Amino acid sequence: MRLVFLGPPGSGKGTEASLISGRLGLVHLSTGEILREEIGRRTELGRQIEAIVSSGALVDDEIVNRIVFARISELLGFILDGYPRNVDQAARLDDFLGSDGLTAVVHLSVPDDVVEQRLSGRRVCSQCGFVGNTRHLLSGSCPECGGTLTHRGDDRPDRVRRRLQVYREETAPLLDYYADRLVDIDGTGSKEEVADRIQEGLTRWA
Ligand code: AMP
Repeated sequence: MRLVFLGPPGSGKGTEASLISGRLGLVHLSTGEILREEIGRRTELGRQIEAIVSSGALVDDEIVNRIVFARISELLGFILDGYPRNVDQAARLDDFLGSDGLTAVVHLSVPDDVVEQRLSGRRVCSQCGFVGNTRHLLSGSCPECGGTLTHRGDDRPDRVRRRLQVYREETAPLLDYYADRLVDIDGTGSKEEVADRIQEGLTRWA
């Protein structure tokens, strides 16, 4: 299966893409994660995009298209998380995939107040990548590996508002673009509950 996971920041795309890729044996590709790694490694590209990512704006389409195409060209099954982010990226992806196109597009919907609550409490382990929320965490250390938990710079309230605006203006039009392949999922509830709903929603596309 070739899937795209769509939804506002904080809708659980990354968490669910990771769970579903494990359940269905697909490769999970997060463009946000790949870009953050470039920034962390202080590569030429990382330095070029750092200010854009931390402001909550979108990185240049050509850069992101190149990264994605290089990684999916050999893959039979994948979940794209955070890509495409606008109609131009979606059209380029369609051209790239040709007749084999996307199998389905999963849209996670979550109310704005839940998004803001999730992102303000989100903590990420700088060592193993674990993602948790202060509502469930017992300390400032990662429950998986003991590493340090950090608050992503772009999860600060002013950046979150900007990212939600960018989502509404640039990414939400993809819901119409993908109307014929859209699987609409209620993204509230536990991660396992949401994953079960996604798997159920995908059965007609299998
Ligand atoms: P995410 O982890 O998906 O929330 O992405 C974090 C940030 O990475 C976004 O706010 C953008 O600055 C950048 N980014 C991720 N995916 C894309 C994309 N497909 N196109 C442009 N910028 C992206």
